[in-house]
Amino acid sequence: TTQTEVELIGKHEVLPNYIPRDKFSHKGQFGHALIIGGSYGKMGAVTLASRATLSAGAGLVSAYIPKCGYTVLQSAFPEAMVITDADEEKITSISFEIKPTVIAFGIGVGTDAKTLNAFEAFLKTNKTPLVIDADGINLLSKKKALLKLLPVETVLTPHPKELERLIGKWKNDFDKLKKAKAFSKKYNVILLIKGANTITLFEDKLYVNTTGNPGLSTAGSGDVLTGIITGLISQGYHPVVAAIFGVYLHGKSADIAVEDFGYQSLIATHVIEYLGEAYLDLF
Ligand code: AMP
Ligand code: MG
Repeated sequence: TTQTEVELIGKHEVLPNYIPRDKFSHKGQFGHALIIGGSYGKMGAVTLASRATLSAGAGLVSAYIPKCGYTVLQSAFPEAMVITDADEEKITSISFEIKPTVIAFGIGVGTDAKTLNAFEAFLKTNKTPLVIDADGINLLSKKKALLKLLPVETVLTPHPKELERLIGKWKNDFDKLKKAKAFSKKYNVILLIKGANTITLFEDKLYVNTTGNPGLSTAGSGDVLTGIITGLISQGYHPVVAAIFGVYLHGKSADIAVEDFGYQSLIATHVIEYLGEAYLDLF
């Protein structure tokens, strides 16, 4: 067996990867991210992810959502463009005219059979880099054959329950790492193990994040992380760097925000609003 290299991730580890902004830059250089997600009652999650994507630095963001979310998203987050599915309440077919730089799939999509079919048809033709979260991961767990359709270096961001559905039950932390590592190697994906000290796994490397706090144990905080990683890929970060840097920024933003809000009152929106402080803290 191969040796796993472990690296602790703090400011000094992410800084060398930072891409500075040129005075003459324009939004066309920072990509167009597409967030495919949502179902009736879960449009807030897509709004959070879209906002986090743009706040992380994507040039443009579009959300692909069921029809019922159209007015919700356009009003809650005017910076986003919206494309709607044919269905009122869930994703049933995925087709769009734009050419996204990166696609995030799964936030709030539910696990309806029609959504699973749409996801499968999409994966069969898609060549755009992917970030998959939440019910997107649950759909992959429901139909494991889909895992072979993922582009290399797809980022998967499961929370503990989603991870368990994906890789099976583990006996202890050592066993969890072993299973997660085997999974990421088998499918060539970047796999996150979220929690305090989120771990990013890829090939024989294991990156342990050092930012973040229990204020992040709150609704929507994972949706914000997915948006941040998607926004980083959109502007040109390699998916492995985007995952590591995204987890770092998400945690750092929460560490700064918690000084103002406290652990109990911190909500996901604050993590988006303090992202700028996390970037500024790098220097
Ligand atoms: P989700 O469960 O998908 O909303 O994701 C929760 C997010 O918050 C992940 O990025 C976790 O790593 C983070 N998080 C949750 N609890 C903690 C904690 N106690 N310390 C640090 N980060 C946390
Ligand atoms: Mg989540």
